[in-house]
Amino acid sequence: MATVSVKHHQMFIDGKDVDAPEAYEIRSPATEELVSTMAKGSVSHADAAVDAARRAFESGSWSRMPKEDRSAIMTRIATRLGDELDELIELETCANGATVRQATGFHCGLASPHFLYFAEQALTYEFERAIATKPYPTHSVNTIVREPIGVCAAIVPWNFPLVLGIWKIGPALAAGNSIVVKPDEKTPLSLLRLAQIAHEEGVPDGVFNIVTGDGAEVGARLASHPDVDKVAFTGSTAIGREIMRLASGTVKKVSLELGGKAPVIMLDDADLSYSADGALFGCMLYSGQICESGTRLFVPRSRHDEIVAKLVERASTITLGDPTDFDTDMGPVVSARQRDRILAYLEQAKADGATFALGGGVPEGEQYAKGFWIEPTIITDVTNDMQIAREEIFGPVMVVIPYDTEKEAIELANDNEYGLTAGLWSTDLERALEVGEQLRAGTVWINNWHAVDPALPFGGYKQSGVGRELGPDALNEYTEAKHIHLDLSQSADRLPFDLLISTPPTA
Ligand code: NAD
Repeated sequence: MATVSVKHHQMFIDGKDVDAPEAYEIRSPATEELVSTMAKGSVSHADAAVDAARRAFESGSWSRMPKEDRSAIMTRIATRLGDELDELIELETCANGATVRQATGFHCGLASPHFLYFAEQALTYEFERAIATKPYPTHSVNTIVREPIGVCAAIVPWNFPLVLGIWKIGPALAAGNSIVVKPDEKTPLSLLRLAQIAHEEGVPDGVFNIVTGDGAEVGARLASHPDVDKVAFTGSTAIGREIMRLASGTVKKVSLELGGKAPVIMLDDADLSYSADGALFGCMLYSGQICESGTRLFVPRSRHDEIVAKLVERASTITLGDPTDFDTDMGPVVSARQRDRILAYLEQAKADGATFALGGGVPEGEQYAKGFWIEPTIITDVTNDMQIAREEIFGPVMVVIPYDTEKEAIELANDNEYGLTAGLWSTDLERALEVGEQLRAGTVWINNWHAVDPALPFGGYKQSGVGRELGPDALNEYTEAKHIHLDLSQSADRLPFDLLISTPPTA
């Protein structure tokens, strides 16, 4: 199994590599081999990065750069992300275990087009809009200006560090902000490379900083720092609540992309020749470690056995193994902690009376002696109120729940505290749209899954988050709206000053 050579990596603060007295190890989740060491940042590094970001913002080196120039630099960065795809894949997958096939099409392959979208937004976003003159109380010209917020912090998880980072870095930079990024401890390398590329292509010192270290220390400092104006977070709902609390001290702008437990409804007219593979793709891609994975599959009771048989047949063909091999379908889960967490959920499901139609544990075999592995798992005899159906597992685990009527399926689908994504499979497109409109989630996929497009918004209803990333309004989350009112009358007697001063004005 190939690994990258062991190298020590430093943080990137104020345009320079910055080391720390302490370091930590980054290990492959497939082999447990040491792949890198990384400087372990602390509160003082977070503070230094915020200071650098503030100085850069106030200097105007980026914040007041003409948007054409900002867009040109960002376009060059997007090109480099495409040119250096192989290196980015190696840097990211050595730490998060994604297969090279998934990283090519998804984890890292999306980086360049998504960054390019924000390079274009730097030009096309409506930073200023004049409103026609208003006759009341007198004629005035009104302008809505969208200005950068200032210093942004981004806290990013391990599953898609590069792309989920870009969803924050892209709009922040396009709008003229400075940013401090805190990647997950396990997966900082692809984002570090992005920061270096950005600097090489002309993003000024201090505008884009990366600080590594523990979430509870460095992440918490950024979320509470008095000089951070906005915090954007992707991660678990539990930590999302903590981010909101920390940010409230200085009433920061907050956007949160949190957990999910997406429902998938197989309507009774679904065509299993593609929807069984589709449901498995929706649930098990990247070992199910995706917030928007479709994990609760609702099937018509009359077709339950047929659908389960097809799912088991197709899921049995998924090969687990070396993620660097292009033929491998599924790699490891990210860590021993994550594996043990999934196994605990599976144990509880068994205790609650569920049946394992496929998988249910660690695969057997010499090749799985090292690393963190979970079999593709399909569970039946599940009800929507069991823990396995309510909580986010973040593993290759699908639960199948029968329903009797379409109305019941919709009610069961919506009966969960999360609302990130939802979806359905049907050959009747009109009916599918009607059902889709009744699902309470930020994205509803019909006859597809994982279709994330930078031009379309992404984010959660309910406890799946606050705000939206991507889409034409993405920069709204990284700008303040300012209304400028210019009165044209230049005359005291035509303005309502007499509400306060009753004596007529003298010339
Ligand atoms: P996590 O919440 O444990 O960690 C996410 C990030 O927060 C990491 O960078 C971590 O270092 C940091 N962090 C941890 N404690 C912190 C604290 N007290 N203060 C500030 N920062 C802190 O989540 P995870 O295990 O890394 O990722 C899995 C979770 O992320 C899942 O729940 C998944 O659904 C969610 N997720 C959501 C989306 C989305 O777009 N909605 C995308 C990917 C992952």
